[in-house]
Amino acid sequence: MPVYKAPLRDMKFLLNEVFDYPGHYEALASGGNATPDIVDAILTECGRFCEEVLSPLYQSGDDEGCKLEDGIVTTPRGYKEAYVQYAMGGWQGLSAPEEFGGQGLPASMGLLKQEMMGTANWSFSMYPGLSLGAMNTIFLHGSATQKHTYLTPLTEGRWGGTMCLTEPQCGTDLGQVKTRAEPQADGSYRLTGTKIFISSGDHDLTENIVHIVLARLPDAPKGTRGISLFIVPKFLPTEEGGVGERNAVTCGSLEKKMGIKASATCVMNFDGATGFLIGPENEGLNCMFTFMNTARIGTAIQGVGPAELSYQWALAYARERRSMRALSGKKEPDQIADALIYHADVRRMLLTQKAIAEGGRAMLYYAARLADHMVEGHTAGDQKKAEKYDDKLGFLTPILKGFLTELGCEAANLGMQVFGGHGYIREHGMEQIVRDTRIATLYEGTTGIQALDLLGRKVLLMTQGGAVRDFTLKIANFARKHLTDKRLRPYAVELLKLSAQWNLLTVRVMLAARKDRDVVSAAANDFLMYSGYVTMAYIWARQAAVAADRVRKGGEESEAFYRAKLATAEFYYERLLPRAQAHATSMLSPTENLMQLDAEDMAFIG
Ligand SMILES: Cc1cc2nc3c(=O)[nH]c(=O)nc-3n(C[C@H](O)[C@H](O)[C@H](O)COP(=O)(O)OP(=O)(O)OC[C@H]3O[C@@H](n4cnc5c(N)ncnc54)[C@H](O)[C@@H]3O)c2cc1C
Repeated sequence: MPVYKAPLRDMKFLLNEVFDYPGHYEALASGGNATPDIVDAILTECGRFCEEVLSPLYQSGDDEGCKLEDGIVTTPRGYKEAYVQYAMGGWQGLSAPEEFGGQGLPASMGLLKQEMMGTANWSFSMYPGLSLGAMNTIFLHGSATQKHTYLTPLTEGRWGGTMCLTEPQCGTDLGQVKTRAEPQADGSYRLTGTKIFISSGDHDLTENIVHIVLARLPDAPKGTRGISLFIVPKFLPTEEGGVGERNAVTCGSLEKKMGIKASATCVMNFDGATGFLIGPENEGLNCMFTFMNTARIGTAIQGVGPAELSYQWALAYARERRSMRALSGKKEPDQIADALIYHADVRRMLLTQKAIAEGGRAMLYYAARLADHMVEGHTAGDQKKAEKYDDKLGFLTPILKGFLTELGCEAANLGMQVFGGHGYIREHGMEQIVRDTRIATLYEGTTGIQALDLLGRKVLLMTQGGAVRDFTLKIANFARKHLTDKRLRPYAVELLKLSAQWNLLTVRVMLAARKDRDVVSAAANDFLMYSGYVTMAYIWARQAAVAADRVRKGGEESEAFYRAKLATAEFYYERLLPRAQAHATSMLSPTENLMQLDAEDMAFIG
């Protein structure tokens, strides 16, 4: 099986040439240490760790999976050693505050790290990924004592973390959470209930696990307004900050699942476990979702990662495997047949993967700059700034999470297709990428829920279309600047049309929804996908603008790189972007085509 190669050239192109990260870091308070040299060194070292340590464990981890024996969960061979290297390398604290042992680098640096780790080995990356969720929650809502107790060991990677929301009866609708929290005389709580599907719920990588748990106080109001948030450590911390008494939280079983088999997905039983309230009573959901935008960008990586990985492997295969002759004439006359890469249909598949991987990565890096500003606002106590950037990011996150993970599944499937029947055979790794990727459209809010969040909440309810107006203004301004450039004019014209159409569609859906409430749910998925294709078009045009400039100036060592960028942008605009129009049509179609059948008439079986 091939191994992952970190796409450092593309990453640096986006960071240094398209999005001016050096300038961005210079302007950030937390960016002082993120000098170009340091960023370069971090990327190189992280790439090496991912290529040499994490990638080789990708398939063996899938073969072996996690085990639960005598109440103890073990990860596959090699995971613990890799985790020790990860923790010793200080990777967990890359973007964590220095006062808690972190390196204090901007949040976006953490995302770059997550991208490489997640692409090399998504299952592995989930353990530190969930810990980051716990760290963020405690950092933002914990008391001084809680921060003092938990943040340093989490930052150092000695302790791990989880997010315990889901219960058997509810994943999306958390208002149905039943886990109970009884107040105790000493100010702590006793938690009783069952959580399912908990990633990293138990494992052997860290000496302690800090669960962040949603639960209900005895007389809490019904629904989402009656949910509080608790810290429930696997081992209660000692006064000295060490690991003390075992708490009554255990892994009841491991879920048997389609993919990410090296990630322990646990049923967690809380049997009167000691917990500590974090944040105000009954405001647990708000606290839990504070950093959701950054978490969801994290999950959007699971769209880009598989597209990149399956593209790398499919490309290598398509260059070697031979089949028949290219229709335009022999390309390799000395060989028995031409390589797959000379067939236009194989090109279609490869370029779709490439356009998704590079377009998706660029969307992430665009958003990561906003995340840096948002985090800086929170850290500095500048609520206005934090909210401003949270709103901007809030509009983009459902697009990133929903659209990119859907496209990640498509790209992974195409990678398998390039391999033909061999793609279905385990040894090549392509079917594993397909299985591992599928979860991304389900957890951290399904695509359907992202779509509702985008259209229902962010666009219609909260801003009455304002979020689309603001973003399309940005796109239109960019387009106008490039209208007179021969090379970029076609993109600029298309972007101007799409900016107007996106606003028009928003207004039409808004008006239709006033008459028929099902319209929002019926249109949401198409609206999300449409928004995704247009956003990616904007981001591809930004890459093309830089590439065109470099080619025009000439003399660049890597002119081929820029020409490839231009060719991929052209492919995106001519072969993938037209899909947006199908979504536009479908989005406006009447709800009757969905709702006219009675629920009992949906099938006539037996
Ligand atoms: C491998 C794995 C790891 C996970 N890790 C974690 C974890 O670490 N912590 C954690 O707490 N949870 C975790 N989860 C749970 C995951 O977040 C939920 O499964 C997910 O949020 C969906 O919830 P559900 O399964 O209850 O589906 P449901 O909420 O029952 O949804 C079913 C379907 O109905 C749709 N739907 C639901 N409500 C609406 C609506 N109002 N309008 C339109 N459509 C709707 C959904 O989009 C979906 O298609 C994990 C799950 C898996 C499989």
